[in-house]
Amino acid sequence: MNRHENTGGIGRRRLLIGLGAGLAATALPGVATAEPTLLAGAWSNPAYGTITSGFRTPSRPTHSGTDVANSQGTAIWAANGGTVVGVRTNSYPGDTRPGLLPGRTGNAVLIEHHNGYRTYYGHLYSASVVRGQVVTAGQTIAKMGTTGNSTGPHLHFEVLANGSPINPYTFLANRGITLGRTRPAGGGGGWPSVENGERSEVARVVQHLLTAHGHSAVADGYFGSASVAAAKAFQRAEGLVADGVIGPVSWPHLIIDVKQGSRGSSAKAAQVALNRHGAGLVVDGDFGSVSVRAARNFQSAKGLVVDGYVGPLTWRTLV
Ligand SMILES: [Zn+2]
Repeated sequence: MNRHENTGGIGRRRLLIGLGAGLAATALPGVATAEPTLLAGAWSNPAYGTITSGFRTPSRPTHSGTDVANSQGTAIWAANGGTVVGVRTNSYPGDTRPGLLPGRTGNAVLIEHHNGYRTYYGHLYSASVVRGQVVTAGQTIAKMGTTGNSTGPHLHFEVLANGSPINPYTFLANRGITLGRTRPAGGGGGWPSVENGERSEVARVVQHLLTAHGHSAVADGYFGSASVAAAKAFQRAEGLVADGVIGPVSWPHLIIDVKQGSRGSSAKAAQVALNRHGAGLVVDGDFGSVSVRAARNFQSAKGLVVDGYVGPLTWRTLV
């Protein structure tokens, strides 16, 4: 998107919309950067999955969104920064009552973005944001479900331009995102989401990194309430939205460069991450020559610069 589009009509009015992640620090002519401004960040994919129904197809001419199907509980991300202007959580599977927008789309979240855009997320299992909350692109806002008039877990996703639904697939495609297929781009792109209840080696990586930042978390690979509390403390300390979800916004703040001679929890995090890719390292927190060689092998296999230095690009590929 052309940045100059974002300055049109804004002037120096005070606009109570959160900063998009991508351009937060960029000064634009005519925009007072000390105030909240209506800037557009990069757009993000709202969910991974398979498209099961398109926008106003011949067989469903009144279907004003695109459906993305995946398993119940799949993370749903804000498609851009903005303010949550509607949340519905009292629906259930088979509910035939009208929703937040026309249609029987169950539990839902509605977000107001820049330049008259709104996005709508329907059939949710649950929502993790509240009305009035400022969100950033790629932030986890809900879990996929099948509430309302739905035959299986999927996201009903709408993009509205000045109130009128437009084709979400082509809208995102014009911004370099394949709906359902491309990783979320808003907060840095390519980062997974680790949240309450996750049990994985990536969760263990997050726990080591939280400890390295001084927010101690037991590295047991289970991201339970204690880990969520540590994540929230970390996010508060970093000035992030403290939702306890380590997603594309939090990861760039969480990673720590690890190189030959690095010691402690950050080195353990890198060793666990390399072991996810078959390195077979002893997780001793001592990033010596064996660990460096494993990092170089990984970088070589992934087409990265082969220097044995675990920086942002290598981290992003590791997790
Ligand atoms: Zn739909």
